[in-house]
Amino acid sequence: MSTKNMNKFDNSLKIDPLVAKALNLELLRQQNSIELIASENFVSPSVLAVQGSVLTNKYAEGLPSKRYYGGCEYVDMVEKVAIDRLKELFNAPHANVQPHSGASANLAVYYAMLEPGDNILGMALDQGGHLTHGSKVNVSGHWFNSHFYGVNPHTGLIDYEQVLQKAKEVKPKIIIAGASNYPRFIDFEKFRHIANEVNAYLMADIAHIAGLVIAKLHPSPFPYAHFVTSTTHKTLRGPRGGVVMCQEEFAAKIDKAVFPGLQGGPLMHVIAAKAQAFYEASQPKFIEYQKQIVLNSQFLAKALIKNGFNIVSGGTDNHLMTIDLRNTTVTGKVASEALESVNITVNKNAVPNDPQKPFVTSGIRIGTPAVTTRGMMEDEMQIIANLIKDKLNNLNDETIHNKILAKVKELTTSFPIYENIYEYNQMISKY
Ligand SMILES: *Cc1c(COP(=O)(O)O)cnc(C)c1O
Repeated sequence: MSTKNMNKFDNSLKIDPLVAKALNLELLRQQNSIELIASENFVSPSVLAVQGSVLTNKYAEGLPSKRYYGGCEYVDMVEKVAIDRLKELFNAPHANVQPHSGASANLAVYYAMLEPGDNILGMALDQGGHLTHGSKVNVSGHWFNSHFYGVNPHTGLIDYEQVLQKAKEVKPKIIIAGASNYPRFIDFEKFRHIANEVNAYLMADIAHIAGLVIAKLHPSPFPYAHFVTSTTHKTLRGPRGGVVMCQEEFAAKIDKAVFPGLQGGPLMHVIAAKAQAFYEASQPKFIEYQKQIVLNSQFLAKALIKNGFNIVSGGTDNHLMTIDLRNTTVTGKVASEALESVNITVNKNAVPNDPQKPFVTSGIRIGTPAVTTRGMMEDEMQIIANLIKDKLNNLNDETIHNKILAKVKELTTSFPIYENIYEYNQMISKY
């Protein structure tokens, strides 16, 4: 983070002290904790700066060169670059970079292709799927007739036989392949064969694995999927937002569904930050980063298993894993709160066939994208695996608690989230 950029939070800019205080405390929280939430990351100082730019002042309804507002020549430049780079990264025939989030990107595909009451088939939420894949509490389950597939409870792997059976049974108009919590490769080719069998569209939601796909560490959804949606802020390490890609024949429908179907003015400052993130993702360093995410994840899974934990599916092919806590004395809720008390951030998560309620669960989901951005490697994964064991095996031991806190502090101090973080800390220490 450059000094200039830090000044954004300084009182010289007359930032409301309450806002400044919250921002500064959040910065310190991020710096001082070990972030293992699999969907989070730390963007580059460049992405931060671009997102904080004057582009936030601009209305630009429409698409590049086809706007409903004047003065769009420069935002056109940046949106065109974002579109071209995204297409190049994924070998996508068509791309729209305007969705405000992953949820909006998914809704755009549904709005473009479905009518209320249509059958859809997605991965169940409690098996690793996402709310937007047909959950009853989401518009996708409210307006559409949602049906679900899951994983084999013994192997933890997607049961493709069951996907085919369900597909034949319910004849969905669209099949959604993608997950928020699945540690293995998703076979998009197999999904396409199933979709072909029942004459359904295939939508791949690669929100979690986008970075791995770019680095060719996870099989690509193209050319198999008709539609590919993603967030830009998880392994892709860009600003918080979404994108939709599709085969050329659906381009006009998708663009119209995003605007004017679902959104008004696009967030041009976020689109510029997406363009910056896509540039970063095209660099060799990004490939190295993705490789290290997976190395760290696989090493951490092995270290946790050695420490006596069960890992759903026995390991991981990607950036995340779920600890199945049913052989321990703690639930997902207790474990995540205990770890949070020593500044290790994870989220509780259901394991396949979880006996606990969704708010309690029997698992915790752990991912390595954020710690890998900080520069942590296998040695640090070993330390983290040991800290997790020490805390969960000694919930109420104050001496151990304090030892863990000290170790977390040592680790986070050695791996600052931004280069000049200590300079910055001093500057804001008045809060
Ligand atoms: C995170 C995620 C989303 C939603 O992204 P938001 O930006 O939070 O709306 C959609 N699908 C999957 C599979 C996800 O993991």
